[in-house]
Amino acid sequence: MLASKLYCPTLRDDPAEADVASHKFMLKAGMLRKSASGLYSFLPMGRRVVLKIEQIVREEMDASGAQEIMMPIVQPAEIWRETGRWDVYGAEMFKLRDRHDNEYCLAPTHEELITTLVRNELRSYKQLPVNLYQMQNKYRDEIRPRFGLMRSREFVMKDAYSFDVDREGMIKSYENMYDAYTRIFDRCGLNYRPVLADSGQIGGNYSHEFMALADSGEADVVICTKCQFAANVEKAVPKTLEAQPEELHDMELFETQHCATIHDLVEITHTPIEKTIKAVAFDIDGKLVLCMVRGDHDVNDVAVQNFVGGNDVQPASEDLLKAHGLVPGYMSPLNAGPQGDDFVILVDPTAMNVYNGVTGANKDGYHYRYVTPSRDFKDVKVTTIRLITEHDGCPECGAPVKLTQGIEVGQVFGLGTKYSEALHATFLDQNGEAKPYVMGCYGIGVTRTMAAAIEQLHDDKGIMWPVSIAPYEVVIIPVNVQDDALMGKAKELYGEMTAHSSEIMLDDRDERAGVKFNDADLIGYPVQIILGKEYKTNGTVEIKVRRTGDVEFVPETQAAQRVQEILSDLRAKRM
Ligand code: ATP
Ligand code: MG
Repeated sequence: MLASKLYCPTLRDDPAEADVASHKFMLKAGMLRKSASGLYSFLPMGRRVVLKIEQIVREEMDASGAQEIMMPIVQPAEIWRETGRWDVYGAEMFKLRDRHDNEYCLAPTHEELITTLVRNELRSYKQLPVNLYQMQNKYRDEIRPRFGLMRSREFVMKDAYSFDVDREGMIKSYENMYDAYTRIFDRCGLNYRPVLADSGQIGGNYSHEFMALADSGEADVVICTKCQFAANVEKAVPKTLEAQPEELHDMELFETQHCATIHDLVEITHTPIEKTIKAVAFDIDGKLVLCMVRGDHDVNDVAVQNFVGGNDVQPASEDLLKAHGLVPGYMSPLNAGPQGDDFVILVDPTAMNVYNGVTGANKDGYHYRYVTPSRDFKDVKVTTIRLITEHDGCPECGAPVKLTQGIEVGQVFGLGTKYSEALHATFLDQNGEAKPYVMGCYGIGVTRTMAAAIEQLHDDKGIMWPVSIAPYEVVIIPVNVQDDALMGKAKELYGEMTAHSSEIMLDDRDERAGVKFNDADLIGYPVQIILGKEYKTNGTVEIKVRRTGDVEFVPETQAAQRVQEILSDLRAKRM
């Protein structure tokens, strides 16, 4: 490709709208343009990267035995009503009507469609297992689209769905996909960790998220420093902490004006934070759920939802709190209204172990001290609802853990019969009995993977693509196109290299050398071949490796050969 013909409008200045490196550099390098919040166009260089990632995904999916299909993006409301997800998805789903007033959505995912697609045609156990996948746009009206391609409203996902006759089969399909994902993210050159993920009501450990490790990641991940344990913090169940037993006192009401937060309380009343018990209240499908954890801990709302059930988790409104005798800022089980179908109190076991602690009195401006929950909290449900911290040991081996940020680039999920039962999708087993398929679903955020690679691989000048997903592998830069000797040699080299590769860019633009060097670093070609002064004086060309910054000079006759060696070496190192 000739840079003079390439549609790649690079920007000189940092775009103000960009909040993370990947977003900034994709805009700046002329790969991406925004059309509306969370909606983007891919320009030629960006598109090439997407296609390369898709190709890696496709090759590994095919190698794993999955078969590619294509389903519609526009989907009828009925199938979503059958599983109840028309309402569950809520505002995140883009909904539309046709001219006959029929309702549809733009698919955020395809479990409903694929299950109804196969339910009348995969009829016998003899036809199973089957794994079908597609590469397609997904639509989610995210509350906060941000970080460019990391959380957009239209994005490319590879989604696969497996159908098995039983749970053992599903586990095999799951492991098969897990292995394929490992190969895919290895090939994309990412630094990632598969981590245990929340699998909702289905239970077991049949959900893993593939997390690209990066500070800009929105997911919190806990990793053991000693054993193999790694999990999304939502999924990690911290061990219960014991407190030093002490002589118990009687509970005592005391005035605590201006102590509406736990930090005010600690500061104003000089209570150690481990002796405070704080409250967080949720409205889950209309049910008030009061959660008590120690002041130095945070509530894991996923653990709460898994315990209570329900679909829609919201912070409880003041009206709902008051209806159950709770006073915002001073909430606790003490003096609360009666529990029932519409109100439950959950207490974390570590909070339950506090002696002579401080907690709200459900009276404006008052707390109780000398509260011992095991004695004073009546009729509460005790279950682990706190998030793990770096002060906790590994849930598996007890060694220290580290918390870190990850970008979820993929997820594998053992679904069981959730969708096949809801959609009456069955096959006949060996005894002629109708059984629901045992399913799994497996997603990869293709466009998010592109962003994650940049988050991990950039410097202040621009992107440092791994060879496998770079838009072009090599750029040839004659520093002065007016110089016939330089330009002639550059063209010759370009001709020689393009005979074997479609991955070569010749920067034949009549621009200053500085502009070309900046663009090359910004766009992130893995290898740059520079023809300049050295070529004129002694016939050598400069070869620069973007990722390492290594520079070498080789006789021009060896340039093409040497670049091939460098590229093979980079590929072998997954760089
Ligand atoms: P998140 O928790 O980040 O919202 P999710 O768990 O809802 O993601 P899945 O339903 O598991 O996402 O979708 C499969 C993959 O699609 C994710 O692993 C992620 O890589 C990608 N993905 C999901 N939402 C978005 C988005 N808004 N923008 C870009 N990629 C996304
Ligand atoms: Mg997910």
